[in-house]
Amino acid sequence: MTVPLGMPALAPPGVGHLRGGRPFPDAAREALADTQLRRNLGHATSTIRGKRAAVVAECPDWEDLRRAGEALKAATMARLDEHLERLEREVTARGGQVHWARDAHEANAIVTRLVRETGETEVVKVKSMATQEIGLNEALADAGIAAHETDLAELIVQLGGDLPSHILVPAIHRNRAEIREIFLREMPGVDPELTSEPRRLAMAARAFLRERFLRAKVAVSGANFGVADTGTLLVVESEGNGRMCLTLPDTLITVMGIEKVVPTWADLEVFLQLLPRSSTGERMNPYTSAWTGVTPGDGPRAVHLVLLDNGRTATLADPTGRAALHCIKCSACLNVCPVYERAGGHAYGSVYPGPIGAVLSPQLTGVEDNASLPYASSLCGACFDACPVRIDIPSLLVDLRARHVDAARGGVPTAEAAAMAAASWVMADPRRFAAAETASRLGRLLGRGDHIATLPPPLSAWTGSRDAPRPPAETFRRWWARERGTS
Ligand code: SF4
Repeated sequence: MTVPLGMPALAPPGVGHLRGGRPFPDAAREALADTQLRRNLGHATSTIRGKRAAVVAECPDWEDLRRAGEALKAATMARLDEHLERLEREVTARGGQVHWARDAHEANAIVTRLVRETGETEVVKVKSMATQEIGLNEALADAGIAAHETDLAELIVQLGGDLPSHILVPAIHRNRAEIREIFLREMPGVDPELTSEPRRLAMAARAFLRERFLRAKVAVSGANFGVADTGTLLVVESEGNGRMCLTLPDTLITVMGIEKVVPTWADLEVFLQLLPRSSTGERMNPYTSAWTGVTPGDGPRAVHLVLLDNGRTATLADPTGRAALHCIKCSACLNVCPVYERAGGHAYGSVYPGPIGAVLSPQLTGVEDNASLPYASSLCGACFDACPVRIDIPSLLVDLRARHVDAARGGVPTAEAAAMAAASWVMADPRRFAAAETASRLGRLLGRGDHIATLPPPLSAWTGSRDAPRPPAETFRRWWARERGTS
């Protein structure tokens, strides 16, 4: 592909909130000990799964839609440079300004400069994974600019001094009682008689946010889609907070990952059917806001689009891994993942948790910087079945694991490779195999029932987290001889 104006041939690896301080197994072990977290997650994910299953079952052409989404994404990625340049031209022609950011640092610097130029010291924000990815709120705070989240779940996370743990429902790890406590503690002027009834909580947030909406002169958003044909940006949401941010302030700054571009409005016809059913289990999004440059007398007077790379062109250059860029951030894969349901989103360390996070984060940062994430999966395949654009996440995970192993061993065989070579040598000769069978029967002494709970080192690495099967009393060769009358 040719490279859009201002972009290097390959942007550097992704920076920002894409990697955690600890490997996944350490963080997950701690999360697993939190029974309240597991209850909250189990309840929330099973509810969303049920809603999604019901609305997907209503669509007789669901599999055709998935295939259409997959094909559209693949075709768009193949000519991403052309679509981005078209998007830039169309946004500019309609009075908007386009900025290119190679990484999180550049994106944060651009947004900070744009806010400073307005003279304002606060912004309201629409929920946005891209701004979470680059750590925009922290960068703005360092520059003396307060960023107010307006999505209810993001507000809960922000007031709680917490981190998001789900792509769509950032406060999924919190229950109603915990949210009430946060509001009572952190929300100025809240009714001290506030209960944990969802309606009361929503009304409290609404009153708190309304004053901020009316005061704000600058808004920052992400974008679910950017239509190259007309330079139109779209945000889909459920609460209406996004529309307040997108229409009331004088200045609107949108940070969009470069993979969010779609060539035409006709493409949206597919994605706007796939996304709401897969994300919130709804037939359509309650609010779909679209804006095209600046319209005199209607909405913001200054419209900026920051196109974010942050490791995406490097991912695009990977013929296998580029499929991770097809993601439309619906979070269906999180809600069906047995690992996510038990470990929760914080264990992944990245703003992108769950199955897609285990692929996307190492793709964006380079696998060596997120080496534990490709192993944060049982490879059961539920994520692939749920994905509306048919991203084969298990295959991508296996590919990343192979790359990590290749990089780590540096020509020295791994323990697994050495074990496989030894097994091959033993099984290639009947006498060696018979001797090995006899030896393996000694393993029966180590177990009870049908499993062995603890093996000596180095095999203890296996039994540290799972059981090993106890060898049967009768070897395969003896069984064969007895059954078939041969020796
Ligand atoms: S990988 Fe697929 S299922 Fe997961 S968030 Fe992305 S689009 Fe949704």
